[in-house]
Amino acid sequence: MVKIVNAPEGMEGQGFFATSFDKVIGLARANSLWPLPFATSCCGIEFMATMGANFDLARFGSERMSFSPRQADLLIVAGTISKKLGPVLKQVYDQMAEPKWVLSVGACASSGGIFDTYSVLQGIDHVIPVDVYVPGCPPRPEQIIEGILKIQELAKNESLRRRDSSEYRKMLESYNIH
Ligand code: SF4
Repeated sequence: MVKIVNAPEGMEGQGFFATSFDKVIGLARANSLWPLPFATSCCGIEFMATMGANFDLARFGSERMSFSPRQADLLIVAGTISKKLGPVLKQVYDQMAEPKWVLSVGACASSGGIFDTYSVLQGIDHVIPVDVYVPGCPPRPEQIIEGILKIQELAKNESLRRRDSSEYRKMLESYNIH
C-alpha cells in the first residue's frame, strides 16, 4: 500500500515543487528520446514525413536523430528486414546503451507484412525485444507519433531498477543478448 505523507514544513507553497527522483529521471528520459532510424523501405519515408515540418517530431523532444547506436536510446525499425539483415539489426541494438527502447513501425518490421517469403524476417521480435508495435502498411505519421508517445509513457513510468532485474536479464538472455 502506498502511503502519501504531507510535504515537510517549508517544502511546499509558491515557488516549490517536490517530487521523487524516479519521476524526475522518467520525465527527463521520456522528453529527450534520441531515435536511431533503422529505415529500410517505404515505412522509412513515412518516418521522414514524421520528422518534417508538418508533423514535427521536435515537439516531443525527439528531433535529434542519431546514426550512431551509442548516442541513441530509441531504435525505430521502419521497413522490411531480410533474414540476412537480422544479425546487423541485433548488433545495432547491442551497441546501444541502456536504457533503450524499440519501436517497430509497420507491418513488415512487426510481422514480415505481405512478404511471407523465405528471405524476409517474419517480425523483428525474432531477433530483438520490441516495446511498441505500430500497425499499418504504411502507418501514417500520426500513428508513428502515437507509438513514440507510448514509448514516452513507458520511459516515464519505468522503475530505475527495472534494467537490473532478473526478469529483464532473462528476457535478454532469451534473445541471446548478454
Ligand atoms: S509495411 Fe508496407 S509500407 Fe511499410 S515497409 Fe512494409 S510494404 Fe512498405
